[in-house]
Amino acid sequence: MTSPVWHPFTQHGLNEPIPQVVRAQGATLHLADGGTLIDAISSWWVTTHGHCHPRIAAAIADQAGRLDQLIFAAYTHAPAEAVARGLIDMAPRTNGQPELAHVFYSDSGSTAVEVALKMALGYWHNLALDGLAQARSRILVLEHSYHGDTIGAMSIGERGVYNAAWQPLLFDVDTIPFPAPGREQACLDALEAACAQHPAAFIVEPLILGAGGMLIYPAHVLTDMAAICRRHGVLFIADEVMTAWGRTGTLFACQQAGVVPDIMAVAKGITGGAIPLAATIATAPIFDAHLSTDRARLFYHSSSYTANAIACAAAAANIAIWREEDVLGRIAVLADGIAVRLAQLALHPAFSNPRQLGTIAAIDLDAPDAGYLSDLAPRLRAFFLEQGILLRPLGNTIYLMPPYCLDTDQLDRLFAALTAAGDRFGVQP
Ligand code: PLP
Repeated sequence: MTSPVWHPFTQHGLNEPIPQVVRAQGATLHLADGGTLIDAISSWWVTTHGHCHPRIAAAIADQAGRLDQLIFAAYTHAPAEAVARGLIDMAPRTNGQPELAHVFYSDSGSTAVEVALKMALGYWHNLALDGLAQARSRILVLEHSYHGDTIGAMSIGERGVYNAAWQPLLFDVDTIPFPAPGREQACLDALEAACAQHPAAFIVEPLILGAGGMLIYPAHVLTDMAAICRRHGVLFIADEVMTAWGRTGTLFACQQAGVVPDIMAVAKGITGGAIPLAATIATAPIFDAHLSTDRARLFYHSSSYTANAIACAAAAANIAIWREEDVLGRIAVLADGIAVRLAQLALHPAFSNPRQLGTIAAIDLDAPDAGYLSDLAPRLRAFFLEQGILLRPLGNTIYLMPPYCLDTDQLDRLFAALTAAGDRFGVQP
């Protein structure tokens, strides 16, 4: 019988296999047919410590029996309070002092970004009501960005085939060129010029653009970007949805650049990847611009499941793991293991442009007809599936983003499969 399920980013007309997963543990997915897969992309970048982490699973079970869900408009619960305090405590700081001070919950990376945009425009709107500033509404974005698939998040992302149908709904933004090697100053100059036009905010994926192709840029460029925004009074929004929770080698990517954003969006690994939750964290001036006895100025945003208690309990367990265990140590060991093998793989004639940041690694496969819509990526996916590995290349860019519990044997199998893919699909010189 044909399944009624309509899957995301899936062309059902191609009849690609859709494996059914019945159980997961660590970095391993167990299939209904008895097979196993190594989850080499952390199930879309969310699983940090490993699937079904016992501490997170126990926290979910415990919370589910006590308080599952609570309207969050003017009500609160202990897990939400604890996670907010934990986030403020762990977030990037200026000279040891927390600047990010207020946590607004939502349910996904896209909604965390939408909330960030609404906070930024709300800030300028309310300052304008007080005659303290002109209202501002333009958003600056970085070329090749991805911030999610809701309308606002698509508006600030790279335009292309994946959002062409909704182009009439998307709002205009000003795009700053990506700081590719040798183009860093051009990027910063463009940002400086754009900031002089009084936009509301600049939003960036710090240090690495994910869905845009795992494009890495130096920390000093991020530092300079934030400084330019600050100089012009333009709000600096860091979309840490992919990069947070240790992915880039530090808890948050902004920390490598000494940057404290005005607004920071986090999601994915906030619960260790077990259950949806997101947070948009803002500095006091953003919150204070909405603080009033006037109800017209409250922050008009919510969804039914805002700060779901079970999700918050999972996030609290994740934060406890970060506090009590040497997660950064595990990340460093995995990153070293990836680096050694990636350097070896880069010697393969079919691969070029190896790059790595923390536990994220990417390499380009030089294959015939390697465009985004070619059938290379689906053929690679099927090949890796046969090898017992879940990978989802972006066009001809093959990237890894495994859970931090990946062991040496799994790492070896992963790189053996990459080498085999180079042999099979690569252009041989
Ligand atoms: N922002 C970034 C940088 C992302 O990588 C993603 C998803 O991959 C999103 C936002 C959207 O997150 P979600 O898929 O949870 O809506």
